[in-house]
Amino acid sequence: MTELELLIDFHKNAERQGPGSTADTLRALSFIDLEQSRPLKVADIGCGSGAQTITLAQNSEGHITAVDLFPEFLDRLKQKSASQDLQDKITTLEASMDNLPFGPEEYDIIWSEGAIYNIGFEAGIKKWKDFLKPGGYLALSEITWITNSRPREIEEHWNTEYPEIGTASGKIRILEKNGFSPVGYFYLPQSSWIDTYYKPMEERFEDFLIRHGNSEAAMRIVDAEKDEIRKYRKYKDYFSYGFYVAKKLPEE
Ligand code: SAH
Repeated sequence: MTELELLIDFHKNAERQGPGSTADTLRALSFIDLEQSRPLKVADIGCGSGAQTITLAQNSEGHITAVDLFPEFLDRLKQKSASQDLQDKITTLEASMDNLPFGPEEYDIIWSEGAIYNIGFEAGIKKWKDFLKPGGYLALSEITWITNSRPREIEEHWNTEYPEIGTASGKIRILEKNGFSPVGYFYLPQSSWIDTYYKPMEERFEDFLIRHGNSEAAMRIVDAEKDEIRKYRKYKDYFSYGFYVAKKLPEE
């Protein structure tokens, strides 16, 4: 198995592939004020195994196109949506977020939790904007500094991992600069990292290592996750995922 296949194998049976919770998804959804006289068209980009897709399907009158690069995650989502009788509300689509087969102004809502970093926050906003109707909404979660300054170790770590990390004011500025009106911001509470993401992940370590005969590559993945958890626990007062909800303005 390649490193990528191992990573997919590690994450595919998880409820979620990043920090978040049902409450966070619903909180972000509460900022969206759209006429529901017709079914809304929603895209959920980088959906993973679809924890938030299911929440969206259960709590909105719309059809969701759930996109991910990896079919293993989409298969899990398909199983979940069938078991909850939501298959008519969710279509899965295997595609890359930088090359989406969407038409101009096709969607009412573009949702993306913990995934836009794969192409970068600003590049993603610019690319996805065309697919949104004027007056449509973008809802994104993105790694964010939650204080104005922070210890050097964590600053250097994130600047290496993801130089686009910034504060909420900077992210909101980017939305404004690109023709959006921000309507909501909050950041994920610690429980959305620890209880719904890291704890279930820690419970999978042993099984994963056994399944792969304690191979070096499997151990590297577990060690990297452990290191990430350590950094989170140490520096959780300085960063989180910010959730940004913004409305697309009509073109000037
Ligand atoms: N939204 C989910 C998953 C977040 S993890 C959750 O919050 O649980 C990021 C997801 O982005 C992964 O499922 C990964 O497979 C997907 N991804 C990574 N690069 C991608 C790309 N280029 N196009 C589409 N999806 C991608």
